Amino acid sequence: MKILVINAGSSSLKYQLLDMDDESVIAKGNCDRIGIDGHIKHTTFDGRTVDVDCTFPTHTEAFEKLVDVLTKGDASVLKSMDEISAVGHRIVQGAEVFDRTTLVTDEVIKQIDDLAELAPVHNHPHALALWACKKVIPETTPQVVVFDTAFHQTMPEKAFMYGLPYECYEKFHVRKYGFHGTSHRFVSQALADAMGKDIKDLKIVSCHLGNGSSITAVEGGKSIDTSMGFTPLDGVIMGTRCGAIDASAVTFVASKLGLSPSEMSDYLNKKSGFLGVSGISSDNRDLSAAAHEGDKRAILAGEMLRYEIKKYIGSYAAVMNGLDAVLFTGGIGENSDDLRADVCRDMEYLGIKLDEKVNEGMRGKLMKISAPDSKVEVWVVPTNEELLIARDTKALVESMK
Ligand code: ADP
Repeated sequence: MKILVINAGSSSLKYQLLDMDDESVIAKGNCDRIGIDGHIKHTTFDGRTVDVDCTFPTHTEAFEKLVDVLTKGDASVLKSMDEISAVGHRIVQGAEVFDRTTLVTDEVIKQIDDLAELAPVHNHPHALALWACKKVIPETTPQVVVFDTAFHQTMPEKAFMYGLPYECYEKFHVRKYGFHGTSHRFVSQALADAMGKDIKDLKIVSCHLGNGSSITAVEGGKSIDTSMGFTPLDGVIMGTRCGAIDASAVTFVASKLGLSPSEMSDYLNKKSGFLGVSGISSDNRDLSAAAHEGDKRAILAGEMLRYEIKKYIGSYAAVMNGLDAVLFTGGIGENSDDLRADVCRDMEYLGIKLDEKVNEGMRGKLMKISAPDSKVEVWVVPTNEELLIARDTKALVESMK
């Protein structure tokens, strides 16, 4: 069974074609600069490539080109699109409307678009891509949507509500939604499998650390709390996002700088975080290099992230009344051995003890990095959101037969 996975942004359309018989990637790529000019970069499993400028006025033309490179020319991998059994789409915001992976209908696309107010950067482009896909993919091919927020819909009210007037929730749907759900679900299940345990018996803190970072308490396979909130701005300090701050600081800074709500949103989302604190870069590798050179603000930004992760691990252990495992994933979590070592240092009270030797230099591999006598296991678990979207899509399509 072949599944096409789509991750659409406002000006891009990333894709992966997977063979679900062995879960291998047949081809992947990105249609970029939609609405500007257009470019496609496409690579097949055996190294054939397409890398050309195109004209992509809308997502529809990008989809047409995608069908073209998949089925025609030197880097084609399909005779026709009929070989694709289903298309799975990543959707950022499902709010309280979608708590699971769902089959696409016209009504579902409209509902996703209606949620655009809660995720302005993402949901409208997702809807555009879904309409475009419908035009281009054979009508008989099912489409499926997988939501970043769905995994967190199991959070109890006391975890997802804010201490605002209740009407903010009732009228404007302001509450914690949480994000990266596809990743947290994938890695927590992969960890349970690696530990040889039933996920129902495990209390896990899942640390997804990348340009955007979130930490989730997974109890018995369910998300019971997570660090991101109403939007992906909340939680720990990130590349360009500030993470959790006192809301009064927002109104104070906006009035001091004379910023409108949308300018203030840019300030918090695009100019803050590692970039804002260090004044150097949003990228962890640049920051580490500067910290090695002794740059004080780069050192500080790194220390802030480490300190905040520690606090989340401690607080989630408290609310779960225990902890069986901590996992690290995402670009930083999978690759930054010094961050993992710093986070896990002086955590003996919680039963966390790293095997510093195993941890050192460990990058991007599924691996236990805690010491044999550590009460809590610590793991690196590479994430693979596309694979989970493809698995979900396959399962839903098969359940319809
Ligand atoms: P996104 O959230 O956009 O998916 P990623 O999960 O790819 O991002 O993470 C990007 C971050 O991971 C960047 O800050 C980058 O510096 C960091 N990173 C990637 N590789 C390494 C590495 N080898 N060592 C340290 N940090 C790394």
